Amino acid sequence: MSDAVALTKSLLRFDTINPPGRERDCARFAGAMLQEWGFDVQYFEYSEERTSVVARLGGSERKSPLCLTGHLDVVALGSRKWSKDPFAGETAGDKLYGRGVSDMKSGVAAMLLAARSFSKSLSNTPGIVLVLTAAEEGGCIGSQHLAQTQLLGRAGAMVVGEPTGNLPFVGHKGSIKFYARFKGKSAHGSMPELGDNAVYKAARAVAKLEAFSFKAKKHPVMGAPTLNVGTFQGGAGINLVPDSAVVGVDIRTVPGMDHRKLLSRMKSAVGKGVEIEMQSDLDPVWTDPKNEWAQRVAEICMDVTGKTPKTRAATYMTDAANLHKAYGRVPTVVLGPGEPGQAHQTDEYASMERIRESVAIYENLIKDWCS
Ligand SMILES: [Zn+2]
Repeated sequence: MSDAVALTKSLLRFDTINPPGRERDCARFAGAMLQEWGFDVQYFEYSEERTSVVARLGGSERKSPLCLTGHLDVVALGSRKWSKDPFAGETAGDKLYGRGVSDMKSGVAAMLLAARSFSKSLSNTPGIVLVLTAAEEGGCIGSQHLAQTQLLGRAGAMVVGEPTGNLPFVGHKGSIKFYARFKGKSAHGSMPELGDNAVYKAARAVAKLEAFSFKAKKHPVMGAPTLNVGTFQGGAGINLVPDSAVVGVDIRTVPGMDHRKLLSRMKSAVGKGVEIEMQSDLDPVWTDPKNEWAQRVAEICMDVTGKTPKTRAATYMTDAANLHKAYGRVPTVVLGPGEPGQAHQTDEYASMERIRESVAIYENLIKDWCS
């Protein structure tokens, strides 16, 4: 398996669609290769078949290793029909097709091959740690559980191989997702005065949420925080006073915002006595573009791709939100060969040239970190 495109095809063949996930076979496949190359490999399952891999090579007292991370799960195929087989690794021109090829099995393949290039030369160097996670899609659950284990060890900087078209992104927004549950009292629809309408309460809260002001400064790269009410459910029949209603809220935050304070403001906005059921609470990730290592990453990308990167941040969430906390907020870049616009699309594809290019980028990052 000497070529990153061939290895990406092998990873595509594992059906890791989440839900249900079932990353185990794919994780064991990657782990077995790493073991063969001399890595110290550990597996972690937060539930049946939801397997993450942590693999380490090298290591020294004076400097922590470089962490390379990616997720093994992919999203569902969607309701539109694919014109290509999502698991077979079909190609056309420079495009390689498949579910998860951009998001982000090509990134994982390139990281694996870059790691293999150094399998004989990392002793007595800071070394590297590969973290391949389960269940990133829909809440970064795998990395959240992994961060609670002792398996992650140390890292001095982190590369997240999510799709960026080989351009380094210096962070992404944070996210808070919750359901607000409103209670009322049921009554016959012809006698609403005998009931307590939960939908009215929810509707008043939604109007307040729409007008909510974050009072946060715009971030120079990520812009302003946002809020979206994504779901609204309530009532059991047209002739009943609804006794319950549920509203789903998705907030995207920028660096510098205090999630705890924001949540308590949210609670007063939706009203007293409303039950809040948290879905996820993930911090933003941000590395100052002037950070020495972030600049080295930008130079290395420029050397390989010939493109001058400008300062960018990703719009999507990554496992970095959890891993970053476990590693003590080390400098982090999101950088991978996939096409950002192809993530979660029907007929998802990635450029084979970029996949091969990214192996060189990751190799140079490892060389730079370990020499
Ligand atoms: Zn992803």
